[in-house]
Amino acid sequence: MVLGKQGAGKGTQADRLARHYGIPHISTGDMFRASVKEDTEAGRKAKSYMEHGELVPDDVVIDVVAERLGGHDVGEEGFVLDGFPRNVAQAEALEEMLGEDGVDLALELQVPTDVVLARLEGRRVCTGCGKNYSVENPPSEDWTCDRCGSKVVPRHDDTEVAIKRRLSLYEKQTEPLVAWYMAKDRLAAVDGMGSPDTVTARLLRAVESRLAEPAKPARGRR
Ligand code: AMP
Repeated sequence: MVLGKQGAGKGTQADRLARHYGIPHISTGDMFRASVKEDTEAGRKAKSYMEHGELVPDDVVIDVVAERLGGHDVGEEGFVLDGFPRNVAQAEALEEMLGEDGVDLALELQVPTDVVLARLEGRRVCTGCGKNYSVENPPSEDWTCDRCGSKVVPRHDDTEVAIKRRLSLYEKQTEPLVAWYMAKDRLAAVDGMGSPDTVTARLLRAVESRLAEPAKPARGRR
């Protein structure tokens, strides 16, 4: 599971980890954005919270994740969670869903706040598949996604007010998870500065060194 402030590179890096290991990338933010687009019940419940940078209520998020973890592509090899859990109540619910061992590893991507603020301003996202781009790293052709051909635009919730609110919620609600996973000896803090390739290499080293630990057999959930 990948933890980190908005703009730390969670989405990009979780996607790369999932592709590397050939396992699902489960992003609650991507799932909610898709639900809003499709106007499903979960999407209708989540929409205004998302637009204002607020957290969607735990019961809604937990139901969505529980359903996703029951998906046919979720197996023994595990999955990469991105954007969930966001607070201790969600982390506890996740432990219940996964059984006594819980998640194998929480990867904390560390990036200073002034850097994430600059990144969020330039962030762009594909309206089709959710792939992340930025003004520094645009798609190769006219804001059209390299992967699926859909339009690439700024995120609706990347307004100044919503960004501030999300960062403050991260500090209050999500940062306590760092200590929570550390106490369970499941935390790896990884420097999120540098090129995407450099950060991916650091994350892979952290995952591989955890999988190599004899005391904690590699069950594959990451
Ligand atoms: P993200 O793409 O992870 O930044 O998520 C976008 C928005 O979706 C957040 O600002 C929240 O409104 C909502 N969201 C995503 N994941 C969660 C979660 N685990 N708990 C509550 N709200 C969430």
